[in-house]
Amino acid sequence: MRVVVDLTKCQGYAQCAFLAPEAFRMVGDEALMFDPAPSDDQRVKVLRAAAACPVQALQVDMADLPLPPPGETVVAAKGDRLRRDGRIVIVGASLAGLKAAEQLRAEGFSGSLTVIGDEPEEPYDRPPLSKQVQTGFVTSADTTLPRRRDVDAQWRLGVAASSLDLERKRVVLADGAEVEFDRLLVATGVRARPWPVPEEAALDGVFTIRTRGDAAGLRERLMAHPSRVLVIGSGFTGSEMASVCVELGIPVTVAEAGPGPLSGALGGVMGRISAGIMREHGVDLRTHTKVNALQGEDGKVRRAVLSDGTTIEVDVVVVALGGIRNVEWLESAGLAVGVWGLACDAGCRAFTAAGLVTDDVFVAGDVARQPQPMFGYQFLAMEHWGNAVTQAEVAAHNMISGETDRWPHLEMPAFWSLQFGHNIKSVGVPPIADQIAITQGSVESRQFVAAYGYKGRVVGAVSWNQGKWLDFYEQLIEQAAPFPLPYDMTNPPADRTPVPAEFPERTYPGREATVVVTGHDPSERRAVLVRPNRRR
Ligand SMILES: Cc1cc2nc3c(=O)[nH]c(=O)nc-3n(C[C@H](O)[C@H](O)[C@H](O)COP(=O)(O)OP(=O)(O)OC[C@H]3O[C@@H](n4cnc5c(N)ncnc54)[C@H](O)[C@@H]3O)c2cc1C
Ligand code: SF4
Repeated sequence: MRVVVDLTKCQGYAQCAFLAPEAFRMVGDEALMFDPAPSDDQRVKVLRAAAACPVQALQVDMADLPLPPPGETVVAAKGDRLRRDGRIVIVGASLAGLKAAEQLRAEGFSGSLTVIGDEPEEPYDRPPLSKQVQTGFVTSADTTLPRRRDVDAQWRLGVAASSLDLERKRVVLADGAEVEFDRLLVATGVRARPWPVPEEAALDGVFTIRTRGDAAGLRERLMAHPSRVLVIGSGFTGSEMASVCVELGIPVTVAEAGPGPLSGALGGVMGRISAGIMREHGVDLRTHTKVNALQGEDGKVRRAVLSDGTTIEVDVVVVALGGIRNVEWLESAGLAVGVWGLACDAGCRAFTAAGLVTDDVFVAGDVARQPQPMFGYQFLAMEHWGNAVTQAEVAAHNMISGETDRWPHLEMPAFWSLQFGHNIKSVGVPPIADQIAITQGSVESRQFVAAYGYKGRVVGAVSWNQGKWLDFYEQLIEQAAPFPLPYDMTNPPADRTPVPAEFPERTYPGREATVVVTGHDPSERRAVLVRPNRRR
């Protein structure tokens, strides 16, 4: 059977670990590790655990449930041709693509559904790839996502969409085939940013980690007991990989160009806390340090030359430098695409390059960039599991709904990470903040919550092993509550004084030219996309 836990919702109460201990395991105080493919003899226990979960965070396979007959669903509008026999195409067969397909069928869409994916596998879950797959709790082949229902789709896997012909409403595939649509969902996500020097990136032992194949290859190499692993970059994935090496007893060096681990996502204060934790665990963390070169022998990586003047012997390198959005196939379609992804409105409808909203192209997941009304309508791209799920559901609903029935995607951004036995969770958008204050618990005990403020209001919160408090902070962010918090909090820290959040100076993609505008008369004015020179 297949299982996935929505760890954005999970509050670590451990009922599942109590009821089905072979499938669910608590790590540290409240972090949950789960087996995404428990054996069938676990079925009853896992179903009991799913029923007992107080926040309904556990999803199991329900693919054998029949599709609802069209017309019996409450929402099926009578005489709605698109809903009854329209053609919907989803490009990107991963989390967002699958969730959209499930939602379409759940809402009574009975037309034809085609899901196109360049990976040969059916949709699988990525977060375990840098966690339980690397520690050996599960294999990378076990990460296939469960289905909430049979989606009755035509799956075209192992073939990429190579372009989009919006005028003829066709997706052109790499094998030359064309697929017609009435509505299209773009869910092509991101790929790992490779090491920028191709000859060095090609050395045996140099890995990125985005796909099942990456994860399986890396796990195999870690099992061969490398003398040292170098992790380049200490965002969430890099930090999780450092944690895995520590757990496996493998010496690890982390090279971080910035001031500390996680400081891009959570700021300098959190960066220092993470750095302390890494070093306590024996990680050779080098901050303000770049990797100048990777050197190999006989095609295998052997050494890394660092900007601090040292050269270290390594036989595995994990490049964790973030992602590149998969939008190249859309470049001639006239849509608002660029390094930031594909821009859309709050209802997930894609914008054209001129900023007009389309009615037949929708976007969801890591590739989407959407205005966030809660954050001054800034366009934000969220590479978060929970965002891919909720955005896909909203996009699917809107694809088959009339103008007045459409939903805005107003979900609060939320993220989790598991590293060094700590459960780190975040809500809101911390990088917007200018200040941070520890509001509950104590940093020394590694059980605390920090609130982030921007110009006197709460915009984000991060918990370490205190996830149960985050719902409260989520409400504060939704209500634009004042910062510093004017409340007496449970378990207050000795010092609640706000300090600078210390986010790095950012080069927002939006600072660069995105379109040039031509024409004089209003009827002639056109926006033409500026194509960045960034193919890699
Ligand atoms: C190692 C790792 C750990 C993570 N850990 C966490 C975590 O702890 N917490 C958290 O909140 N999030 C985490 N994430 C992020 C989370 O997995 C993503 O937010 C989620 O996978 C996004 O889903 P998506 O469907 O939008 O995109 P993706 O999962 O990137 O899927 C896009 C799919 O589209 C395919 N595709 C691309 N171009 C084309 C094309 N032209 N034609 C056809 N198919 C195409 C891709 O190959 C891919 O299969 C992690 C991600 C990784 C890689
Ligand atoms: S909240 Fe649900 S998924 Fe999380 S530990 Fe508790 S029972 Fe398990």
